Amino acid sequence: MEKKVNQTDITLVQGDITQQRVSAITNAANSRLAGGGGVDGAIHRAGGPAIMAECDKIRREQGGCPTGQAVITTGGDLYADHVIHTVGPIWEGGMSGEPELLASCYRQSLKLAVENELKTIAFPSISTGVYGYPMEKAAIVAIETVTLFLEENEEFKEVRFVLFSVDDLKQYQRLIA
Ligand code: ADP
Repeated sequence: MEKKVNQTDITLVQGDITQQRVSAITNAANSRLAGGGGVDGAIHRAGGPAIMAECDKIRREQGGCPTGQAVITTGGDLYADHVIHTVGPIWEGGMSGEPELLASCYRQSLKLAVENELKTIAFPSISTGVYGYPMEKAAIVAIETVTLFLEENEEFKEVRFVLFSVDDLKQYQRLIA
């Protein structure tokens, strides 16, 4: 356990988000919910076609998912029952609303989890791969936004950040301390 906010543990682990045994894992998706590389590709590969089938349905009904918003699907073959797909901002230097949009990703994902009565949720480091958001800046937004949300919402048991590399884990550990 790394930090406690009210009743919720915020934990940090290094690993693969597709292997997490939580109620929901969060996907760093794109606005067309079309799948892709990075964490998105890994989730669809591990979770099987049921996830994309629901993404297709959401795309038909509402045209995808805007940046900063989130949608929820089944977890398919994953341990997690659900995948929350959120669309992070593409880093364009930081003056185009990137911090607010990234914070919104975490808030909207947590909100969806609350609405679905999910008690444990795992996040990758949204936007810090192909979308180019600097890791340290993104980690500060992630930790601050989750902490603020948990100060006002006590229904979670655990919020877990899953960092792909040891270096990323170390950055989060330093910032959360
Ligand atoms: P984005 O397009 O939002 O930048 P990416 O998937 O390219 O999304 O990268 C987001 C973060 O997820 C990066 O820090 C990357 O290292 C990490 N990542 C990639 N694959 C996995 C995985 N299987 N589990 C956890 N994190 C992952």
